[in-house]
Amino acid sequence: MSVTQNLKSICNELKNTKLVCVTKTVCSERINEAICAGATIIGENRVREFEEKYDQLLPCEKHLIGHLQTNKVKKAVQFFDLIQSVDSLKLIQEIDTKAGAAGKVQEVFLQVNVGNEPQKYGFKLNDVRPAITEIRSLKNVRVTGLMCIPPFLSAEQVRPYFKKMKLLFDEIKQENQDNIEIRELSMGMSGDYKVAIEEGATIVRVGSAIFGDRKQ
Ligand SMILES: *Cc1c(COP(=O)(O)O)cnc(C)c1O
Repeated sequence: MSVTQNLKSICNELKNTKLVCVTKTVCSERINEAICAGATIIGENRVREFEEKYDQLLPCEKHLIGHLQTNKVKKAVQFFDLIQSVDSLKLIQEIDTKAGAAGKVQEVFLQVNVGNEPQKYGFKLNDVRPAITEIRSLKNVRVTGLMCIPPFLSAEQVRPYFKKMKLLFDEIKQENQDNIEIRELSMGMSGDYKVAIEEGATIVRVGSAIFGDRKQ
């Protein structure tokens, strides 16, 4: 199936959920093919890789979804409309500094390590609220959502993790004030986006189901 056909069939399943087309390892020509077919948001994992494609891309919203090192924050703030992968206080403080210097208020999501996996980045479930308390004082960031990458399991096995995220999301929304305006829940990838939508995702991030398998 072509990129266009894949995209159309996924869009038919989305209802009100937004789609981030994950374009890591995909060349700018094929990304533009997806944009022409109706993709409005793309997601990239690495600042360096994205920088090389940036100039060739048709207009679209750009999200960073991979781990961001503090020494790449300045470029990330320059290139991305939204950074979904904020996984530590140290990182968001650096984003605040660099956004301030660039005269920008950077929109971000907090990444949650919902499975409490030692090898994964993200705030632990119990650390999200205390983090938000700290973040309130930052002037150059606006937190508008939560993102998670659950344990690598079958779609049905990840359902409980999506449910946990939805509970946290609904709780935290009650506390929206100042620069905290949580309204998006980013969860679900090619293998499990249908389950994520059933469990309340407002954004899914889909790569291989659109562009085919990535060669590692
Ligand atoms: C690669 C990636 C995706 C998309 O994965 P697919 O299985 O190809 O859909 C989604 N989110 C993040 C954070 C990723 O790194």
